[in-house]
Order: sequence, then structure tokens, then C-alpha cells
Amino acid sequence: ATTVDTHVEELGRIDAVAGDGDHGIGMQRGSTAARRAALTAHDLGAGAGTLLTRAADAWADKAGGTSGALWGTILRAVGTALGDQDKPTADSVAHGVSAASAGVQRLGGAEVGDKTMVDVLVPFADTLAELVAAGTPLTDSWDRAARAAEAAAAATADLLPRKGRARPHAEKSLGTPDAGAHSLALITRAVHGVLL
Ligand code: ADP
Ligand code: MG
Ligand code: MG
Repeated sequence: ATTVDTHVEELGRIDAVAGDGDHGIGMQRGSTAARRAALTAHDLGAGAGTLLTRAADAWADKAGGTSGALWGTILRAVGTALGDQDKPTADSVAHGVSAASAGVQRLGGAEVGDKTMVDVLVPFADTLAELVAAGTPLTDSWDRAARAAEAAAAATADLLPRKGRARPHAEKSLGTPDAGAHSLALITRAVHGVLL
């Protein structure tokens, strides 16, 4: 939520190039509501799974827009994979991120190359799963997956949008990355900073 606050204007500007310009404000509404729900759940002693599920519902409910529903799906998938166990394992985190990637593709129907957040979510999830399966510690795996996410987000600048509101103005978006891809990469980097 703090990272989204810092980048709210930048995200709006990117979305305005070919979309409707509300990605910053939508992400801010969603992540602020999610943070509030998470803090309330934490105060009530909820485990990680319950906390993320509450945050997911709040995000989807308050954000509005396509990305709000998709971020609800992301947080819910990770929460379901973690459950309320005391100490989530690296395997359960990687599994949750893979489930989030599959869930977003199922809900939104976008594939890699359509110039959406899927272009970042897929390489992020795949890199994380591969490294964790090879026994790399979670924070190192996440760091390298976040680097893959950042590179993938930058690479969306060369793509033409085939989904979402940017599609009718496809040519205008050439040279600008996808807003939802960029915000996802920013968030994977921010989460690395708070992983235990
Ligand atoms: P809206 O498009 O409803 O205004 P936002 O501006 O918050 O919502 O989010 C736009 C972002 O949502 C896009 O940049 C893209 O990353 C993502 N997006 C849009 N449609 C899809 C889809 N079908 N599948 C995955 N991601 C999508
Ligand atoms: Mg928008
Ligand atoms: Mg909109």
C-alpha cells in the first residue's frame, strides 16, 4: 500500500496513455482498504490465510476496475495456499503465487503477450517456483523473481494491448509499459523488502 501511494500519479499517467487513467487511484483505493482489513484481522489474531482473504475481499470490493477484481484473486489465492499455519513454508508461498497466476489468467482470459499484468505474473510465478523447488531460500528466490518481474514489466512497452481498456487505442501504447504490469512489478519488489 505504501509503494502504491508513492507511485499513484505515475500509475495514473501510464494508464492514461491508452487506458482511462484510473489505475493509480484504483490501486490506491484497493490497497488502502486491504491494509485496513489486514490490520483489523491481525488485531483479532487471524493467521496469514484468513488475513489475506479479508484483505482480498476488501481490495476487490473497494478498488473498482479490472485490476481490483484481479488483485482480489491474487491475494485470495496466496491466502488459500498459506492457510493459517504458524510459519508458512517457501513451498506454500511459491504454490500460492502460481495459483494466483493461474487464477488471474482464468478470470481475465489474458495470455502472455496480451500486454497485461499476466506478462509479469507468469514469469514472476515461474521463476519463484523454479528457484524454490531447487532449494533456494525464499528471500533469494523472491529477489530473483522480482528482478524477472521488473524486466518483464519494462518489456511490455514493446507490446500492443490485446485485452482491457487499452485495446481500442493499441498503437498509442507502443513505447509505454502496461500500467497493471508495472504496478505488479513494483509490488513484488516491495514485498521482498518485508519478507521474513
Ligand atoms: P480499468 O482497466 O478497469 O480502468 P485499471 O486501470 O485499474 O482498471 O487496470 C488496468 C490494468 O488491468 C491493465 O493495465 C492490465 O494490466 C490489467 N488488465 C486489464 N484487463 C485484463 C485482463 N483481461 N487480464 C489481466 N489483466 C488485465
Ligand atoms: Mg484504468
Ligand atoms: Mg477504469
